[in-house]
Amino acid sequence: MASKKIVLHFGKDISDKPIIYHLAKDYGLVFNIIKANVNPNKEGMVVLELAGEEYDQGLDFLKSQGVRVQPLAEEVFRNEAKCTDCGACTAICPTGALYLERPSMEVRFDSDNCVLCQICLKVCPVKAMEVKF
Ligand code: SF4
Ligand code: SF4
Repeated sequence: MASKKIVLHFGKDISDKPIIYHLAKDYGLVFNIIKANVNPNKEGMVVLELAGEEYDQGLDFLKSQGVRVQPLAEEVFRNEAKCTDCGACTAICPTGALYLERPSMEVRFDSDNCVLCQICLKVCPVKAMEVKF
């Protein structure tokens, strides 16, 4: 039974519901939570390893509950030539992989702390954060 790594994004209206619990109870899926985070806006992000016969049905269930499902990227990286050091990504990166270095206020990316959630891709105004699958 091969497992797949995925990223789940929960809106603030559903982040407190036991949705992942139903993957095991109703679909017999085996899961391993690699990383989980709830931001100050109460939006949740979970990096999950998931396996089971009813994998597709489990994913359909997640989507029916309003969960956004993404495949886990192999690598996320910052294109330094494009980056303007605006800092927008540092405010939303859940692990601090993107951070402002003081006193220069230049943005740094520590790939060792990146959990590949891809949230930074959405906020970067110049598309400097890139992903490889
Ligand atoms: S993908 Fe982006 S937002 Fe997510 S942990 Fe990595 S650098 Fe931070
Ligand atoms: S949001 Fe984009 S441009 Fe701004 S600091 Fe982050 S990577 Fe650079």
